[in-house]
Amino acid sequence: MQQAVQSRIVSDVISAKTTLEGEGFVVHRSFPNYSIREFDPFLLLDEMGPIVLSPGDAKGAPDHPHRGFETVTYVIDGVFEHKDSHGHSGRIGPGDVQWMTAGAGVIHSEMPEKEFLQKGGRLHGFQLWVNLPKKDKMIKPRYQDVPAQKIPIVQKDGVTVRVIAGEAMGKHAVIDTKTSIMYLHYTIQPGSKITQKVPSSYNVFAYVMDGEGLFGAEARPAHKEQAVFFEKNGDEVVISSPKDATIPLEMLLIGGVPLGEPVARYGPFVMNTEQEIKEAISDYNNGKMGKIDF
Ligand code: FE
Repeated sequence: MQQAVQSRIVSDVISAKTTLEGEGFVVHRSFPNYSIREFDPFLLLDEMGPIVLSPGDAKGAPDHPHRGFETVTYVIDGVFEHKDSHGHSGRIGPGDVQWMTAGAGVIHSEMPEKEFLQKGGRLHGFQLWVNLPKKDKMIKPRYQDVPAQKIPIVQKDGVTVRVIAGEAMGKHAVIDTKTSIMYLHYTIQPGSKITQKVPSSYNVFAYVMDGEGLFGAEARPAHKEQAVFFEKNGDEVVISSPKDATIPLEMLLIGGVPLGEPVARYGPFVMNTEQEIKEAISDYNNGKMGKIDF
């Protein structure tokens, strides 16, 4: 007999903590924190803003290294310029995604675009860190710059989804990920509901960027700036926006197969052992991750 589809329940709802990053810009960090170090294969989720910046106030993250994982930047408002030690550069504006596989190591710079810095304006975006399996930690760095217009959008029954990675409402993402990942941006109108299929092997969490929602089989409430972690007990998640809500529920729904490998992490280096972390620090100090010279 085939097993019935089981709807996941919520294991934890956590309020993001406000912290400073880079040159001192405010982020809302869902994890890591004192209770969740990582949510395998995910290492970090930061929300930048939303904030309205005055001219000259935008800040960024100047030259810094990465090794052993991937950074995924999703900009909703504002414009950033990325550069790195492999000569890659790109502009990331509203709706654009950059999926960077740091692999063996890069020096990375993420700064506000000149014009955006001068004029100011609304800034809102996300950075997700995705761990790499041991076999891929030292691969050659790779980039996927995906402009907003290439990201599939589906609209139906009071629900809009942007398919950044994985599959939703019959559309496949264009991004190719090293391990199997789902990254969806949902907008759910008051009174509407989604049922998202998720492989039973995935760890899945949601992040509420605006409004409020009811999560999982038990319809647990969560609101703006909260992350919702699901139990690994089924192959779909249900999420709804309450009928009496005054604004739509705006959220990210993210999932992936856990790697199940040891994690040794020190700032921007994420490896499997302390010895590999020491090597990463020494390679960085000896200039082996290159430099940005353009
Ligand atoms: Fe970076």
